[in-house]
This record gives sequence, structure tokens and C-alpha cells, in this order.
Amino acid sequence: MLVQEFPSMAPVGAPTMSPNEPAVGVTRIAFIDRDGVVNANRDDHVKTWDEFEFLPGALDALAILSRSGWRIVVVTNQAIVNRGKITSVDLENLHQKMAQSIFQNGGKLAAVYACPHRPEENCVCRKPEPGLLLAAADRLGGGLDEAILVGDHLTDLEAARRAGCRSILVATGRHRPVWGEILPKNCLGVAPDLIAAVRYITGVGVARGSWQMIEEGEARC
Ligand SMILES: [Mg+2]
Ligand SMILES: [Zn+2]
Repeated sequence: MLVQEFPSMAPVGAPTMSPNEPAVGVTRIAFIDRDGVVNANRDDHVKTWDEFEFLPGALDALAILSRSGWRIVVVTNQAIVNRGKITSVDLENLHQKMAQSIFQNGGKLAAVYACPHRPEENCVCRKPEPGLLLAAADRLGGGLDEAILVGDHLTDLEAARRAGCRSILVATGRHRPVWGEILPKNCLGVAPDLIAAVRYITGVGVARGSWQMIEEGEARC
């Protein structure tokens, strides 16, 4: 797997805590899927920075998460690497630019964990396998039972389930949630987008082991 950390980057401007946010010192991990959550999906994949388009509210959502003390780890399947459509160096450069944009908006990205493998390689890191999450938690020392994943696809939720962490599905990506759909265990519900998921995570808190209605008419677990 491809691991990239951003230790030298700091958010622009002093972060301020609102009274509603948790105390400083919270160091839980928020696993954030990339395509369809942070940036818009493309049928032909994101191969260059020009093709990388932040979804509305995503940068603000990541800033709120950071200010609330969550360590943000982007976990992403990028089989286009081993398919030869992008080099690992170009992917890292793209992620460097993504991190800079996040930091310029007041957020902080701890790391990107990317799986470069094709499905037929049967690796341990391509979601729904939990390898990316397990490696990041091992490296960063975060408890998986305290972590949460936000993803746009059932394979994201399944990776979270296998890793033993909670998840939220967002409706901005490939998977269009429908009423009554059974989602993997540990999924808390469906949010319209990343900013709604983050408001839920940081503002209301998350009850472990039970699903919560994130927004009226939106919960489907
Ligand atoms: Mg995705
Ligand atoms: Zn892999």
C-alpha cells in the first residue's frame, strides 16, 4: 500500500474551538474515503490534479473535523496505479496538492493510505479488505472502536466493519442509498454529504452500537 504523511503542514490561521466542539486532546481517527466523498467521482477516474474537483462543503467539513481534534486519514482504492494509468509518484503529487488545499482551508490531513492493487491481485488492502484502516490505526495508535469511516460505497462500510470501526454512508458518490436497504453492521446511517456527516460526528456525538437517524428521512440502516 502507498502511505503518505504530512507532518510539516499546519493549517493556516489559528484554529478556534466553538463551545459545541469536543475538548482539545481528542485524537480519534476519522477515515475518509476519497472519490465520491472528498472529490467528485469520475467514470474515467481522477488521473490529474485538473480532474480533481472538491465536492461542495468537503473542505469545510475537513476543517471542522480537524478543529474538533480528529485525525483525518484518507483511505482510497486506486487500482489505476497498477493498471498503469497513473504512476505512484503522480498519485502522491496529486495527494500533496489535495493536502495543501485542505490545509489552506484550515484543516489538517494526517495521512493518505492508498491501495494501488487491481482487484485480481487479491491484496489485503483493497477495500472491502480492512488493510488500509488496520495499518493506519497501527501506525497512528488510534483505537479502531473509537474511529469512524465516511464512505460513499458499500465496500467502504464493509472495510470499516471488518476493521471494527463505525461508519457513515454519504449519498454523493457511486452508491445511491434506498429506503430499507440493509447496510453493514456498525454503519450508523446515511448522510447527504460529508459536511452533514461531520456535523453529526462532531456536533451530536455518536452512540456506539446503534444506528442513529442523521437527518430526517435519510437514515437507512
Ligand atoms: Mg469512494
Ligand atoms: Zn491493495
